[in-house]
Amino acid sequence: MFGKSYRQIKMNDMLFTPGRGSRSPTNAVITPRFELNSSGSISPLVASGLGVRADGPTQAPSHNPNPQARDNNPSESATTLPPAPTSEMGTPSYRLAAAVTAPPGAEAEFLLVRQLPPTPPLGVEEEGEYGRYVDSDLYDLPSAPLRRLADGEPARPGVALAGAEAEGSLDLSRLDVPAALHQILSQLGLTNAMCGEWRLLKHIVEAEFGPDAGVNTVLIITSLESKPEALPDSCKWMSKEGARELLSDVKPGGTRIGPYVHVGFVKSELSSDCTAGSTLVSQEYPPGITLVPMKSSTLRPFRTTNLVVIQATSGTCASKRSDYFACGDALLIDPGCCSQVHTELADLVNSLPKKLLVLVTHHHNDHVEGLSVVQRCNPDAVLLTHENTMKRIGKGNWSTGNTAVTGGESICIGDQELQVVFAPGHTDGHMGLLHVNTNALIVGDHCVGHGSAILDNRAGGNMKDYFQTTYKFLEMSPHVLIPMHGRINLWPKHMLCGYLKNRKAREASILQSIENGAQTLFDIVSKTYCDVDRKLWIPASFNVRLHVDHLNSQHKLPKDFSTEKFESSCGTHFIFWWGVAYAQARSSPALIIAASALAAGGLAIAYALRRKNGNQP
Ligand SMILES: [Zn+2]
Repeated sequence: MFGKSYRQIKMNDMLFTPGRGSRSPTNAVITPRFELNSSGSISPLVASGLGVRADGPTQAPSHNPNPQARDNNPSESATTLPPAPTSEMGTPSYRLAAAVTAPPGAEAEFLLVRQLPPTPPLGVEEEGEYGRYVDSDLYDLPSAPLRRLADGEPARPGVALAGAEAEGSLDLSRLDVPAALHQILSQLGLTNAMCGEWRLLKHIVEAEFGPDAGVNTVLIITSLESKPEALPDSCKWMSKEGARELLSDVKPGGTRIGPYVHVGFVKSELSSDCTAGSTLVSQEYPPGITLVPMKSSTLRPFRTTNLVVIQATSGTCASKRSDYFACGDALLIDPGCCSQVHTELADLVNSLPKKLLVLVTHHHNDHVEGLSVVQRCNPDAVLLTHENTMKRIGKGNWSTGNTAVTGGESICIGDQELQVVFAPGHTDGHMGLLHVNTNALIVGDHCVGHGSAILDNRAGGNMKDYFQTTYKFLEMSPHVLIPMHGRINLWPKHMLCGYLKNRKAREASILQSIENGAQTLFDIVSKTYCDVDRKLWIPASFNVRLHVDHLNSQHKLPKDFSTEKFESSCGTHFIFWWGVAYAQARSSPALIIAASALAAGGLAIAYALRRKNGNQP
C-alpha cells in the first residue's frame, strides 16, 4: 500500500493538485462526434426533472453503520443508481464533470445542477422523527461516471483526443467519454450541437482517502453557442462571484455549492495550498479547510488519517471580536500519521506560519502519533485538547502542557473562525470543531467515511453520549461533515440520521436477543450478528457491551437478565466461543482443535487468576 501511495503522489505531481492548476494542460481539445442515442450503456436514471443524484467522489460512497443492512446501503444499491464505473482493486475509477458556460458576449456564468441525496430516502415514519433536520439544496457542476473500457473493447468512434497524450497517465481513449458526456448534457437539457469546442480544464487525482481506490475526475469546459430559452427546473446559472460568496460565507440552511465548482472556478482565488511543493496529495473543500490523508496505524479498512489544515484565505482577521479563546495563523487538527511519513509532516509544518495552533480530537494513536514532529518543528505551537484526552497523551508525543478546551470556545485563524464542540461518545474527551465560515463540521471519529464508528469503552466511550452528540450535530445543521478517516460527506442529515437509525435498530435487535434468552456476550453477538462475517464479531462485541450498558441505564433489560453474569462473559469466555465459531465457519478441523486448545488454556489461566484474586468464577 505504501508503494501505491507514492505512485499516486507521483501521478498527482505531474498532473493536477490543488493550487497547481497551471501545470494542467488547458488547451487539450476533446471533440465528441457521436450520435446521442447510440450508447447502450447510458443510464436512463441520471437525468430527471428533480435533479441529479450525487454519487460523486466527495460524497462518501458508503456510510452504512449497520453491517447487516449493507445490501440495502443507499449508495451501493445497483437498482437505484446509474451504473458506476467498475474499478479493479487498487485501480481508480473516473468521473467526468463539465462546466458549460454562457455564450461569448453574454454575462459570465456557468450552469449548475441541483444534486440529490443518496437513496433510499428516509421512510415516512423516519421522516416524522427526523423531518425537522434538513440538508439544504446542493448545486454543483453536472457530472457522470466515466466508464473504463474493457480490455479489447475498441475506443469509442468519432471522439478526437487531441491533447490526451500530453496528459501522461490520463488515457482518454480508454474511457467512455461520449457516454458520460451524453449523461451530462441530458441533465442540462442540452444537445451537443448547442455546445462549442470542449476543452480539458483539469484532471483531478483524488487523494488517498480510502478505503476503496480513488475516484479521479476529468473536468471539461465548453461555451454554449447561444443561451437556451428554458432550462430544466433542477438547473440554474451561476456567476463565479456568486459561487465564491456562497462557498466562503455560508448561511446555515442556505444554498450550498459543491466541490466541482470550487476546484474548477473558485479555488485558485481563495486558497493557500499547504501541500504545494511537497509530495503530499491534498483536497481543499470547503475553502479554507485542507484535508491531507496521511498513512497511519489506523484500523482497517482505512489506511490513513485525515490531517486537517486550516489557514487564512485572505490573511486578515475579518472579525472585530476580541474575545477569541485562541488565535493563530494556522491550525492543525489530528497529526496522527505514522513514522513512515513523519518527514513529509515535518515539511508541511515547516511550511506553515509560526503562530500555530494544534487541536487533537481525541487521544488515539492514529490521531496523535505525529504530535512530537509538530512540536519538534515548532516548539511554540499551542496544543488545544480536552483534559481527558491530554491525560492519555504520553510525554513522548507532547512534552509540554496543553490548553484545555471543554467546548464552546471560539478560535480565530486569520479570516477563519472556528468553534470547539464537545462531542463525547467515541471517547469521553472527544472534540469536534465547527468551521463557522463554511458551516462545515469536523467530527473526529464520531463518523467515518465508510461503515460505523467504534466506541472506546476503555476511554469513557458510551452509547448515551454517542446518541446525544449525534443529535447535537443534527441540531447544528452543518453543510458538510469532515471525518478523520475517509471522504467528506455532503449529506450530513442523511448520514447522521442513518447512524441513529442503525444504532437504534441494532439496540432493538440486541434487546430482542436478550429477551429470547441470550445471557452472555457471545450469545448476544452470535444471535445479533449471525449473518455478518465472524471476523467482525470481535469489534462488534465492543459495541454490544456499550448497547447493553445503554439498555441497562434506561432500565430496559428484562428482570431475569444478570448484568454480573454478562460482565463475566466478556473476556475469555467470549474469545473461546468466538474462536470455536470462527474455526467452524472456516470448516477447518485443525483450526477448531487449535482454537479449542488455545481457549482451554486461556480459560485455565483465567480460572487460576480469579481464584488468586478471590473472584467468583
Ligand atoms: Zn479514535
